[in-house]
Amino acid sequence: MNSAAASAAISTECVIIGAGPVGLFAVFELGLLGIKCEIVDSLAHPGGQCTELYPDKPIYDIPALPVCGAQELVDRLLKQIKPFHVGFHLGQEVTDLTRLESGRFEILTSAGARFDAGSVIIAGGLGSFQPRRLMVPDAERYEGTQIHYRVRRAEDFHGKDLVIAGGGDSALDWVLEFCGKARSVALVHRRADFRAQPASVTRMKELAAAGTLRHLEGTIQSLVTADGRMTGLSIQGRDKSATEVLCDRVLACFGLHPKLGPIANWGLALEKKALKVDTEKFQTTEPGIFAIGDINSYPGKKKLILSGFHEAALAAFGVQHHIYPEKRQFLQYTTTSPIMRERLGVAPPD
Ligand SMILES: Cc1cc2nc3c(=O)[nH]c(=O)nc-3n(C[C@H](O)[C@H](O)[C@H](O)COP(=O)(O)OP(=O)(O)OC[C@H]3O[C@@H](n4cnc5c(N)ncnc54)[C@H](O)[C@@H]3O)c2cc1C
Repeated sequence: MNSAAASAAISTECVIIGAGPVGLFAVFELGLLGIKCEIVDSLAHPGGQCTELYPDKPIYDIPALPVCGAQELVDRLLKQIKPFHVGFHLGQEVTDLTRLESGRFEILTSAGARFDAGSVIIAGGLGSFQPRRLMVPDAERYEGTQIHYRVRRAEDFHGKDLVIAGGGDSALDWVLEFCGKARSVALVHRRADFRAQPASVTRMKELAAAGTLRHLEGTIQSLVTADGRMTGLSIQGRDKSATEVLCDRVLACFGLHPKLGPIANWGLALEKKALKVDTEKFQTTEPGIFAIGDINSYPGKKKLILSGFHEAALAAFGVQHHIYPEKRQFLQYTTTSPIMRERLGVAPPD
């Protein structure tokens, strides 16, 4: 059980775990059927792999969109689901999923949110995104106190001797933010070139030239510690020379990578690190829990956005049948169905 589970439960017909493209489209398909849902993602923004891994890449295999940027696709999906007023719960991982005696589900998140849901759709992709960690001895021991992978409260770094590691936008953004606020700032990056906005790189170089920032090209080799505290880092330069940098805080911005994480612990049958589902409604081995998108496995599965969209449509009908088994199901077209058009907030058909 999650220690933060004391909060009041949010009651809903369905919780969607994962706000990647497929989870977002599931909101739409549920909405068309008149089913309300809440969506949770460990990332601070919706979009899954599209937003996190390749926002600027063009996608060419979305039906009727000859070319579409990955972030543009997410923006379009967000616009498409707007009529359904889904509750977003971002920046929190779903840690626990338990079937209650009533047959409903309790879902807990790392931020202490609690849901009481009639059904669950897992659209967890390759898993929840986790920070790439500093791979030096003892780093784990100082994680959360002196070594950080994200900034929860910027003030915690003010007045500190700070080392920022990494060469992407977030490393550079934090360098620019903390120069002048931390007691000292050093930037450690293994290469001379950066994967960040050119304007940020220019500003960083100006700060280094002015002596406000120490810029080191190299990799962190080990921690320097004394009396149970980290007091510095040993940096190995490209020429193998070693430099010691005094610091009491490290902010490592090495990016994120997906990890199956808690989903593997919910007692659902797995196959090749994916959830086994049927192909009628994409239900897992547990009635009422569905899995769509990259997270599922079935004969012939292709990890494509297109496949996930199809799975979302059928899973929505599966959810409807699970929570309202007595309800007659029939197919309606958005073009002609007055109720669907009403749900979409568009004018009734002529
Ligand atoms: C470089 C690249 C290019 C690609 N190009 C194409 C292409 O051209 N066409 C195509 O069809 N596909 C492409 N793909 C694949 C496509 O991006 C995936 O098929 C798609 O993103 C799957 O969507 P999803 O919603 O299932 O999962 P994801 O996009 O992975 O989203 C899953 C979300 O679930 C969240 N999550 C997981 N576990 C938890 C948890 N326990 N709690 C809270 N949140 C959780 C994650 O944080 C994540 O945001 C490409 C992939 C890559 C990496």
